[in-house]
Amino acid sequence: MPKIKAEKKTRQHQLVAKQGILFNKEFGQHILKNPLIIQSMIEKAALRPTDVVLEIGPGTGNMTVKLLERAKKVIACEIDTRLVAELQKRVQGTPMQSKLHILIGDVLKSDLPFFDLCVANIPYQISSRLVFKLLLHRPFFRCAVIMFQREFAQRLVAKPGDKLYCRLSINTQLLARVDMLLKVGKNNFKPPPKVESSVVRIEPRNPPPPINFTEWDGLTRIAFTRKNKTLGSAFKQSSVLAALEKNYKIHCSLHNITLPDKFDIKVKLDDILKQNDFETKRARTMDIDDFMKLLHAFNVEGVHFS
Ligand code: SAH
Repeated sequence: MPKIKAEKKTRQHQLVAKQGILFNKEFGQHILKNPLIIQSMIEKAALRPTDVVLEIGPGTGNMTVKLLERAKKVIACEIDTRLVAELQKRVQGTPMQSKLHILIGDVLKSDLPFFDLCVANIPYQISSRLVFKLLLHRPFFRCAVIMFQREFAQRLVAKPGDKLYCRLSINTQLLARVDMLLKVGKNNFKPPPKVESSVVRIEPRNPPPPINFTEWDGLTRIAFTRKNKTLGSAFKQSSVLAALEKNYKIHCSLHNITLPDKFDIKVKLDDILKQNDFETKRARTMDIDDFMKLLHAFNVEGVHFS
């Protein structure tokens, strides 16, 4: 899955003493302290009293308690056991206690139960993997309202031709409708992060598009590796040719197709691109429809990306 630079950076282990809790930068711990933003995120999620809400990284529970007031149940997934204890203390002996289910551990490694909504201020370093974990989760959830690093949020919603349009944009938008909701400055967090933030709404397309996502992802990976180049040149790189030739040979042997003596995958790919008018197109201006057509054109000729 696509990652942006800030996500990859290994953060220096740094502890900051606040409220008697040591916030751990490695876990992306930046507590949302502005109640108006918490309120606004919950409003934008259009929470119903019958909803099961998933919160990722509840931290000290500032948002959790607000969700508990309005939802049937909140499932909060938290990796830091110190914060789990804090959160348990906060609801203990209140009517909220029985509505809160805490999943202790890494959300990326957890099997998520059913939920209707996801509302969360997440650790930014897991943004990309989390988005696709949620979007590939079944059964479908209705909507997610999530705080991201601003640039990541801008990539999620970018359209063809935009500067930040990338594989993350098209892969997300294939599976979901995405909207930018709110800009959030650094000083709304404790401790303030280095980056600005934005809240995004993600609504899965249900039913999902009739597309094999692994195939789709394989194609967009090739096309966006050099998004400003033409597809003609993207499909001439030797690593791409080698991988697609291997897949094609597997396809042929599965379907009892004999390869011609002078078979050349490069010629085959080039022909498909030319015949479908894609040779001179560039990923940075192509929309979902274009990629659907391109994937179909390759697949009917037995060219597969996974
Ligand atoms: N939502 C809280 C805290 C945000 S900070 C608030 O807005 O105040 C991010 C939280 O995610 C921290 O509590 C951190 O411990 C937790 N976290 C970090 N990585 C995680 C992971 N992989 N799985 C689950 N929780 C994680």
